[in-house]
Amino acid sequence: MSALKAVVAVTLALADLDANSRAVQGAHSMAVHPHVPQSATPAVSEQPSPPRPRCPAGTEAGGEPRRAALLALDVNGLSPEAASVAGGVGDPVWCVHGHFDDDRLVDRRHQADPVMMRLSMADAVDCGEQFERSRRWEPAFLTVRLVQRLNEIRPAITLQRDVTVSEPWVTCSVAEAERLADLLLTATERAEVPMPTEGVVDGPFWQKTACPPWCTSRHQADDAYADRVHHADLLPDGKAVIDLVLEQATEGRPEQLEVTVARHYRSTTAVIHVIKSEQTELQLTPSEARTLAAHLRQLLRTASLPADPSRLWKPLDGVTVGGQPAFPCPHRRPWCRGHSKSEIVESRQPGNPLMHSGSVASVPFTIGNSPGSIDISLDTIDGHQPQPFAYLQVVGGDGGGELDVTAIDHTIAALQLAKKLILDNPVGSVKLTADLG
Ligand SMILES: [Zn+2]
Ligand SMILES: [Zn+2]
Ligand SMILES: [Zn+2]
Repeated sequence: MSALKAVVAVTLALADLDANSRAVQGAHSMAVHPHVPQSATPAVSEQPSPPRPRCPAGTEAGGEPRRAALLALDVNGLSPEAASVAGGVGDPVWCVHGHFDDDRLVDRRHQADPVMMRLSMADAVDCGEQFERSRRWEPAFLTVRLVQRLNEIRPAITLQRDVTVSEPWVTCSVAEAERLADLLLTATERAEVPMPTEGVVDGPFWQKTACPPWCTSRHQADDAYADRVHHADLLPDGKAVIDLVLEQATEGRPEQLEVTVARHYRSTTAVIHVIKSEQTELQLTPSEARTLAAHLRQLLRTASLPADPSRLWKPLDGVTVGGQPAFPCPHRRPWCRGHSKSEIVESRQPGNPLMHSGSVASVPFTIGNSPGSIDISLDTIDGHQPQPFAYLQVVGGDGGGELDVTAIDHTIAALQLAKKLILDNPVGSVKLTADLG
């Protein structure tokens, strides 16, 4: 992630703002950060959001709708413990999904914030010919996340290679993910063994230096250029192969993941291959494999954190967002004012990140005889702008605000508070934010 930074955006020319100032502020927050990608999946961003009818009373989580959850229980066979989560008793601390009693079956799951890592050895994702050349391709990411359906006893870890495909590439149990992390580290150690510098005796004409000590390939003079690769099984007796017990078997054979290391004879670095059932694969550089192993380990630690019974999933008292009742922030940002149900539901689709916002202070001042204020908030946009930034808005001003010494002191104090909130709540600190929340 990028270095810690606070971005102060000052809007100097906003006049005639009214109760909708929050909406304007949101628009400006986006506008001052032009590098925010429009969408991870253009198919989603190209469609305007359909108008959402107001939910009939009684379908929001909490209170009366408890009955609806219990009815769903009969139909879908959820355990009472699982159903109680949607009703508002507790939630794994890592879940950022938000739950409503009228969620569709596919949405009744706990889901963690995705961990995304760039893949330097994968092809970019083609968004389609309808985009101009400069926007047609998106960098390839591997997305790793914790997912747990409400009736499952433990979370699973999914790996997704392509955001345009809704099904994950691999779904592993906790034990399998642990094994995968171990294999990736073993592979990395092998991949980082330096190449020998001495020449080769009795090798084919194309081979100028000896094989790395781990290579068991029998290189031939007529190997095709692409096949001139140092290679060996990572571990003997198929110990580098993981059976994926959560996936559907084919013809009686389980889907499998295998980790191997290979190094082309002219390549500057070895490549770690994570191969699924000899069909598809993920290619990683040694440092990417290390990173993935670290992400998997971190997710496994997160998965074992106890549930958070203190957080009730019900509308916040008297708080509204966009005219709708606000619900607690699914990401547990302690300073976030909450989100409307439609914001939360829409954020489950890729390309619709939640924008978190919380007011820090409103500092009054005057321009001539007109009252104004500098409103300071913390804002952040999931995925694209994960580090919160302080946002200053001059309400009622048509230029710079004329601040007296008291307003200056208040501004500094508020900015210091914003800075403290940023420093006290580092991104990815699930435990810490849960404690505060
Ligand atoms: Zn949840
Ligand atoms: Zn070799
Ligand atoms: Zn939030």
